[in-house]
Amino acid sequence: MQDQFLKAISSDGSIRVIIATTTNLVEEARLRHQLSHTATAALGRALTAGALLTPLVSRHGQIVLQFKGNGPLGIVFVDAYPTGIVRGYVEHPEVELPLNILGNYDVGSAIGNCGILQVTIDHGFGVLQTSTCELISGEVGEDVNRYLCNSEQLGSIVVVGTHLNNDRVEASGGFIIQLLPDHTEDTICKLENNIATFGTFTNLMLKGLDLESILERIINGFKMLPFEERKHLIFACKCSQERFNQAITLFGRDEILDMAEIDGGAQGKCQFCNEDYYLSKDELIKLAQNI
Ligand SMILES: [Zn+2]
Repeated sequence: MQDQFLKAISSDGSIRVIIATTTNLVEEARLRHQLSHTATAALGRALTAGALLTPLVSRHGQIVLQFKGNGPLGIVFVDAYPTGIVRGYVEHPEVELPLNILGNYDVGSAIGNCGILQVTIDHGFGVLQTSTCELISGEVGEDVNRYLCNSEQLGSIVVVGTHLNNDRVEASGGFIIQLLPDHTEDTICKLENNIATFGTFTNLMLKGLDLESILERIINGFKMLPFEERKHLIFACKCSQERFNQAITLFGRDEILDMAEIDGGAQGKCQFCNEDYYLSKDELIKLAQNI
């Protein structure tokens, strides 16, 4: 089943829920970047968080999350677009840590609990808005929750999870609940009850529940309006052979001819999606002649 995203608001204006499954796009990231289990769990949670935060961005914009912690994974980078496209990488994809005391992937130690989460929103008109907050645990969900509470001034709950089985991503997804200005004590009580009996997001996926069934459990007791937004999510990148060629032309005619003569070609790798690009000696000469 394709990865999906849903956004809904309660009819009493007390909560907004954004929920997504990301199993396929996280598996695509794992394969492309040859991620370890720990790195898959970390990037999987971050990619899911990126997708869940796209409602903060205008239609032609994008949101960039950078987890810069003191853990061995280095920077965890994600950018996500309102169209449903998400991409990302970790600086050290090979890092593998033992499971933590709870038997989960130790994402907190891998990212580190000392450092910052930097969030940049590009509204699409050349206007960038960057905010940073200190990491709480490096577990991603708590850190994104702090960012939301600071930037949106609304209480929220952020849950993100990625589960692997036999080296493959078997389930990945999460949700954000935002408390809107019309919420009451009763709203919080109902949500607390729902979350207490919820279990984990990936367990519900593994039991075969689809996105709407999981959403129903989260919002049990709330009357919701028709979905504000529904879309598919995919891992995709803006890179292309044409963009690689354009980047090479920036070296100038003489340097490109040197590359052709001395190196016999040029190769490069996209940092965001790990795609390889290559120009042969003849292609470099042809490129230089067209400058
Ligand atoms: Zn790329």
